Amino acid sequence: MPSTTHRVARWMAAQGWYVHPLAPGTKIPPGNCPRCSPKNAQYIPHATDECRCIEAGGYCHGVRAATTDTDRIDRWWTAEPRFGVGVACGPSGLVILDVDDHADTEAPANGDYLPGVELAEDVTASAFGSGWDTIAALCEVRNAPLPWVDPPTLTVLTAGGGLQAWFRVEDADRWHPGAGQLGWQLDLRAGRSYGIAPGTVTAAGEYRAQGDCRTVAQLPAWLDADLRRTRHYREPEPERPRRSARQMLAAIQRPKGPAYVEAAVRAEVEQTANAASGTRNATLYSSARSLGRFVPAGHLSEAEVEECLMAAARAAGLSEGEAQSAIRSGVRAAITKGATA
Ligand SMILES: [Zn+2]
Ligand SMILES: [Zn+2]
Repeated sequence: MPSTTHRVARWMAAQGWYVHPLAPGTKIPPGNCPRCSPKNAQYIPHATDECRCIEAGGYCHGVRAATTDTDRIDRWWTAEPRFGVGVACGPSGLVILDVDDHADTEAPANGDYLPGVELAEDVTASAFGSGWDTIAALCEVRNAPLPWVDPPTLTVLTAGGGLQAWFRVEDADRWHPGAGQLGWQLDLRAGRSYGIAPGTVTAAGEYRAQGDCRTVAQLPAWLDADLRRTRHYREPEPERPRRSARQMLAAIQRPKGPAYVEAAVRAEVEQTANAASGTRNATLYSSARSLGRFVPAGHLSEAEVEECLMAAARAAGLSEGEAQSAIRSGVRAAITKGATA
């Protein structure tokens, strides 16, 4: 007769959720084998993606070993029926909102229980005793029901008096975990963090499903927006059209001035736009320095240099902020050097 957690693990896997063992009586995975433990003499350096133990059906590296494979699950939980069940968020397409009930946690240093959210004037620090109050205050501002209530979704009462509400998301691998970014005593489990399945027993008690809902709802739109606002979602990189230097030059404003200035602009734009990855930032900086030399003479303005090289940097795939600081420091360096030469 399989244990409770063995049955839960099987059931979760049947829903398409990736499970891994938790050491009996705890909420953390069992330790790695000696070959996978960096502090051990028998450690063999390896990337987790290439772990032979996981390949061979082992459960080293905790959440990274999570699986939906019933043979593995049966083997793991038969060997140790008291294992708890972790559920890997990212691979399972889930994010889990963690509402904590830590009476001993100190208030936020700046008194900001819900960063970036305008609270009503009569809501003061005394209104916040735990994460339950924080989520209630957020719902009030958003004029929304508690996110696990409507529509209902699988919700787990934690052994410590908190709650974990499970939600489905698209692009689960773009979501990442956070502790307290959304609000005081509100955490998000996502990506490579894991939720704890009902039936898991720790020293504090048992994790239990609340009510009878066993399905997982889509993350409510308003909470989705608040979690993105508080940086739990990594936007996809913009498409990188690989534009030729010729197309680049057509797109940028043609600089006024002597022909050699224009030739220099063309050359530097071309170089930056086609820089190999790994050298892009250095190339951009050096191009900015070259073109910066024309600024004191009035052949190019700083804004023109920035505009030309920015277009080239975008084509090379550099991020806006990264490119801007490289350009500005390159131009500054050229101007300073010109002034002291
Ligand atoms: Zn191992
Ligand atoms: Zn390993």
